[in-house]
Amino acid sequence: MTNVTPFSPPLYMQRYQFVVDYVQTYRPRKVIDFGCADCRLLKKLKFHRDCIELLVGVDINAAALLKKRRTLAPLMSDYLQPGEGPLTIELYQGSVTEREPYTRGFDLVTCVELIEHLELVDVESFSEVLFGYMAPAAVIISTPNAEFNPLLPGLRGFRNYDHKFEWTRAEFQAWAQRVCDEYGYSVQFTGVGEAHGCWRDVGFCTQIGVFQRNYDELNWSTSNADRLEPSVYRLLYRVVYPSLCDNNIYHKTLLNEVVYEAQHLRQEWLRSKNTDPYNNPHVHYYPLADAVQHGAVGGAAEQQQPVYQQGGDICVPLSCVWSSPRVKALCGSLQCLREKLQDDLVMRLSVDGMVLILPAADEDEELEEKKEEEEEEEEEVKTGVADSAKEDWDEELASYGNA
Ligand code: SAM
Repeated sequence: MTNVTPFSPPLYMQRYQFVVDYVQTYRPRKVIDFGCADCRLLKKLKFHRDCIELLVGVDINAAALLKKRRTLAPLMSDYLQPGEGPLTIELYQGSVTEREPYTRGFDLVTCVELIEHLELVDVESFSEVLFGYMAPAAVIISTPNAEFNPLLPGLRGFRNYDHKFEWTRAEFQAWAQRVCDEYGYSVQFTGVGEAHGCWRDVGFCTQIGVFQRNYDELNWSTSNADRLEPSVYRLLYRVVYPSLCDNNIYHKTLLNEVVYEAQHLRQEWLRSKNTDPYNNPHVHYYPLADAVQHGAVGGAAEQQQPVYQQGGDICVPLSCVWSSPRVKALCGSLQCLREKLQDDLVMRLSVDGMVLILPAADEDEELEEKKEEEEEEEEEVKTGVADSAKEDWDEELASYGNA
């Protein structure tokens, strides 16, 4: 017996990272994590929006899911910069030994440290449900390698009180090979957490099987109706992330970016004007009629024109705003940007739609802020509820939901 140095990063992180690496390589669209417990793997996977569109967690323990469901909610940054693709996250209470029609047609199912919590008889139903009934394109199963146990300091018996068994590599591989033969899969074995020196040949601390379905994609279109409403599992949480696929969100995001960029250009212009109003080489001051002649309005589409002032307004040509990489990424062409803004009632645009018109004076902003503050105060007096109190209510409602 020898002491094993603690794993770094910790073993559970290495298991999650294994799945994350797999996702980055094979880019599954629909993923289920079986036995997701406190949703830690899901929390990592939700950042892979370039491929994952539906992320589902299933666990028999509803309390664990309810306790942690909020960790899967969108962050402020998800609203400020919505992802391009859609993402829905759902949590279900259910058993992996039950057939749930909703779970068919997924690209990847992960079972991280789950099967050793099942009675051996349930491992049989689990195998049929997973590989026979759900038949996902790929499955990742991790489980303790019993041969490694003598290297774990102070361990007597199984690694966890709830484990029903812990398999040697031969046992795990025999089970895996049998389900592959039965259900048309192939499997590769690997793991995380290596022993060193003379202990190397005990294998990984966590053994992992990566299964691939051998036959072509199944057509689940006939079961679409089933898929809409899970019939066996109980839905505990569903969240749809803001995404640019949603037209409203796309439009709001584009407007935010345009306003941000235009305001930034306006501020710069005002700053430079304050140092020397009419002799600054970077800015131009001319009436609108002259602006057309100068090419600031309606000039060559891609040519960047200067910001200029007209009366009490600062005029920001769309071509200036177009130089923002975020605006470019959101809108394919300057013409497209112009069309999208022309439909908007909030934006003030020149007649030809090529120039954004913003007030020169900051007073407007100050007045607006003051008005908003006054309105908020009035609202609080009317309802007798301050924002902080509203939050307390939210908390209380949430705790009822958790009960
Ligand atoms: N996969 C998670 C991870 O690696 O962090 C947690 C694994 S935890 C050790 C095992 C989880 O499997 C528990 O949350 C337990 O509730 C769940 N579980 C046990 N039997 C189950 C069953 N029949 N169906 C679904 N989940 C089950």
